[in-house]
Amino acid sequence: MPVANGPIIFSEIKLLVQSRCPIIYLTSHEEERVVSSLTVMAKELTKQVYSWSITTGLQELNLEEDDISDLQALNDPIDVLNHIDRCNENSIFILKDFHFFMDDLLIIRKLRDLFQNLKTSNKTIIVLSPVLKLPLELNKEITVLDIPLPSTEEFLKLINEIKTHLSAKTMELDEKDSLLLARASHGLTLVEAENVFSKTIVNETKLSRNGIPYILNEKKQIVRKSGILEFYPASNRIQDLGGFTSLKRWLEERGQALTSAAAKKFGLPEPKGILLLGPPGTGKSLTAKVVSHYWQLPLLKLDFGKIFSGLVGSSEENMREALKTAEGLAPCVLWIDEIEKGIAGGKSGNSDGGTASRVFGSLLTWMQEKKSTVFVIATANDITRLPPELLRKGRFDEIFFLDLPREKEKEEIFHIHLIKKGRDPKRFNLPELAKTAENFTGAEIEQVIMDALFTAFNKKKDLTHEDILGAIKSSVPLAATYGKELNELREWATTRARKAS
Ligand code: ATP
Repeated sequence: MPVANGPIIFSEIKLLVQSRCPIIYLTSHEEERVVSSLTVMAKELTKQVYSWSITTGLQELNLEEDDISDLQALNDPIDVLNHIDRCNENSIFILKDFHFFMDDLLIIRKLRDLFQNLKTSNKTIIVLSPVLKLPLELNKEITVLDIPLPSTEEFLKLINEIKTHLSAKTMELDEKDSLLLARASHGLTLVEAENVFSKTIVNETKLSRNGIPYILNEKKQIVRKSGILEFYPASNRIQDLGGFTSLKRWLEERGQALTSAAAKKFGLPEPKGILLLGPPGTGKSLTAKVVSHYWQLPLLKLDFGKIFSGLVGSSEENMREALKTAEGLAPCVLWIDEIEKGIAGGKSGNSDGGTASRVFGSLLTWMQEKKSTVFVIATANDITRLPPELLRKGRFDEIFFLDLPREKEKEEIFHIHLIKKGRDPKRFNLPELAKTAENFTGAEIEQVIMDALFTAFNKKKDLTHEDILGAIKSSVPLAATYGKELNELREWATTRARKAS
């Protein structure tokens, strides 16, 4: 396993240690990578470094001889804290597994005492854990840092290291391909990347740019394992979205800042995100899928129901993990469906107000401060539940209002869905269909074509114009019952949002 001492985060930790910060809490799934970087750092600071886990007890790590020397057993967490308190060395103590003890009264008290004692010493405790479990009592004492996943340089280093062990036959990577592979690996840990590369060599007999689909597959697994985000295949083309010329123009213009080096050099900022407002069925979700395909970025869907479900972890931890996964997979599109549900605490509103507003607040802060290329597409259809801070400048590049489609747009939508069903739109009087489908949404137009197909099939004839007219006349659009809310939404959007059409 290569030593990863590149990322800025380790300079930050070094500064904290130098300024005698007594207890630091690092979250990372990559124990080996972090420990090896901390060992390098300790050496630079001429400090001893020890590592503790429930199985190994306390061990001294000595990078020079590449070995580990066992101290006395000290498997008990309280014993190791007492030992740290007693010894008077210039040392760093890396404590693994401590998240399991963070609800133990004795441990909490001992850590609080140690915080005071260590302030004037040259000893630093570093808690290293895949999850953040911090009792309220230690909130002020412990500095928390998230270790980001490996950078391109770290993956390149790994690839070069593998290169030195393999023959030219099994490794067909020039500098450009190595960089491609390293960039594609963003979002994986070093161990995961190493496994993917091995899998590629076993299946393809060599590692070349053919490793990229394997990497993508691994990323899908990661998103699936996270249990909170969902990976969507980007299969909807921009031609599948009827109407919304203004929104499409915006996407075309802003997309250049993501893909064109000239646009970046010119000083165009990367797009941050959009909020799509509109009644149900007007194509908000479809737009998210279209953007992902149009910009060729993976699409991740964040579900507030899962964040607050309590099935996986705590709501706060779920949100942190979701955002960390999205950042790890950047560049990507993060689709937050029905963002207003986040304020209520998920679909069932089963989270208490305090937790919901903390979780939502952390999302807002992240949106404001994020540096990675995660383009956020949030959708909403209930403006009464949107907090003003969500709409504040800086969170989204633009708020778009997706209204019911106008005549020409409805014609386009009929055209799209007839083609999808393998029918020639020229056989249908589209202006008449569009006019008859008064106040229909895109989803409702798709539905009447389905209904008409059933009718035609039952008659054992092909689909006719009359079948569709009949289906339109026998359905009642949602707008008929949603009129009051729709008018309120329109009025609200007049001054606050840009029309998508
Ligand atoms: P909700 O608020 O209920 O989630 P939505 O606004 O996200 O609704 P979609 O789920 O995107 O609406 O729409 C459902 C389906 O309706 C789409 O998958 C698509 O087939 C069709 N549809 C909606 N709008 C359009 C459109 N403008 N062009 C083409 N198809 C559309």
